[in-house]
Amino acid sequence: MARFTKESLDELRTRIDLSEVLGQHMELKRAGAAFKALCPFHDEKTPSFTLQKGDSHYHCFGCGAHGDAIQFLMQHLRMGFSEAVEHLADRFQVRLQTVTGGDDEKRVGRTRLKEALEYACRFYEFLLLYTEEGKEALQYLFDRGLPLDFIHTFRLGLAPKHDGLLGKLMRQSGFSQEALEEAGLLSNRGGGSRLKEFFLERITFPIQDAAGSVIGFSARKIREEVFGGKYINTVETQLFKKSKVLFGLHQSRKRITKERQAIIVEGQLDALRLIFHGFDFTVAGLGTAFGEAHVRELVQLGVRSVFLLFDGDEAGRTASVKVGHLFQKEGLEVRVAPLIDGVDPDLILLKHGPVGIVKALSAAEDYLLFLFRHLSRNCRLDSPAEKNELLQDMTSRIREWDNPIMIHESLKRLAHLAKVPEELVGVGAREMRSMPFRQPVTHGSGNGKATIDPDRILEADLLRWLILCSEPGFIELCRANLRVESFLHEQARTVYREILKSEQEGRRFDLFMLAQEADNEELGLFLSEIVSRKVNREKAKELIAETILRMKERNWMIEREQIKLTIHSGTANEVEVLELVRKFDALKRIVPKVVPV
Ligand code: ZN
Repeated sequence: MARFTKESLDELRTRIDLSEVLGQHMELKRAGAAFKALCPFHDEKTPSFTLQKGDSHYHCFGCGAHGDAIQFLMQHLRMGFSEAVEHLADRFQVRLQTVTGGDDEKRVGRTRLKEALEYACRFYEFLLLYTEEGKEALQYLFDRGLPLDFIHTFRLGLAPKHDGLLGKLMRQSGFSQEALEEAGLLSNRGGGSRLKEFFLERITFPIQDAAGSVIGFSARKIREEVFGGKYINTVETQLFKKSKVLFGLHQSRKRITKERQAIIVEGQLDALRLIFHGFDFTVAGLGTAFGEAHVRELVQLGVRSVFLLFDGDEAGRTASVKVGHLFQKEGLEVRVAPLIDGVDPDLILLKHGPVGIVKALSAAEDYLLFLFRHLSRNCRLDSPAEKNELLQDMTSRIREWDNPIMIHESLKRLAHLAKVPEELVGVGAREMRSMPFRQPVTHGSGNGKATIDPDRILEADLLRWLILCSEPGFIELCRANLRVESFLHEQARTVYREILKSEQEGRRFDLFMLAQEADNEELGLFLSEIVSRKVNREKAKELIAETILRMKERNWMIEREQIKLTIHSGTANEVEVLELVRKFDALKRIVPKVVPV
């Protein structure tokens, strides 16, 4: 995400109608100058979630939930920070200006690209449903067991046989050539200097982002002679990043974030059909590769366990091994639904309906068992050499997983499955090796992958109180005890600085202020960490004081350690050492306390 100018963010802030944003996701009732609703963040029978008309923040008198539009989208819909800002800009039609200018300004804005793709999507839908040309394709879909309401629900369409029509219509409607190119609707695929429409004579499946905007298409050919593979996807664009896109997420997001589980399938059509039949927590990657970025997207949504429902063939089983490992590495619970040869989820639904899927899911085995069975299928377990090789392979895979307890338990089960003593597979021996250790703190987590860093967790804990609770006393208490430099993490410092600043200027803190910061991606991740957890409001006063104390104690320890290190390093002369020792002793006597306000 680019840095946005303060002016454009301010404009966005004034344009946002919070009741409209909330109204899309919950039922708001008018009560005088306020709106009331059942709180989405805690269970209740009478509404205590309120919003004053025209106010930019909501508040719940039941659980104390409090926040602005960005926070709501992040917490309730699990959007990322940048995604939430851009979603609001789209919605309230504010063109966000970037600070850096340059390349970004020359490019067609994301909003315009989404408009172009929406136009194309409607055109394809129209062609499929209401024209002579669409008849054959429609019949093809009916023959494949895809009824009309399926076609409507997922907005299937048809790209025309002849090049030029879509482009002409779109240019007449005011879309520029650049917009068409950057949206991935035109390309010079197949050679030649003239740009052709990218999708021709194919059934189109729009790919939507989590908020429902069309960001690209996946398209299947109907006749063998058509150029290209069976399925082709939009090329990478500003909007469309293939390695991250989870097909079906728009429809499945709600249940996935609520139930914290997901079904993963191989094919896009499998995903849609499962969603259509009520398994609306299903997603697929695009094409065959389901990779680390997809796994990370799901982890970000809070998913804890997944079902792998891949095709019943060798490729499907190999994919289950690979994808399952990626999830295990992130510490998620993985269950693999074994399908017999030649069967895929689509076929189960056609033959047995949803009951067939329920059966397959309930027969799912945990990943370790699946892996053991899969790897040992061609192995003679009565041969010591082959058994040894199998165990070596299994243990080295298990040791790559994220969680030491998971590793320990898995090794124990492996010993049991292979009928060998636990020591032989190294239970208790080296599983601590992959235990996350305290890392020297620099700037953020770098690769975007959440590492367990106790300092970062502690600092996020503290900021969570300040952001999720509206108590003015909390900020004062923090100000009296912690300076910006008391935070070790760059992102934490940025957030804390903005909180203090807004209080000093008598404004209310909101997350928009942070959208001007340089390192938005890191910051976005950090904010997700902050808002994705709940706070215990009943003991808020005690707990925030405790968190402050822990931070002060930590810093106190660090300071003492540093003095000790300098003394031991031998770089200081005798006088300096004496001075350091004095400082060390003095420090030892000032045990950190929370200064009350
Ligand atoms: Zn509440």
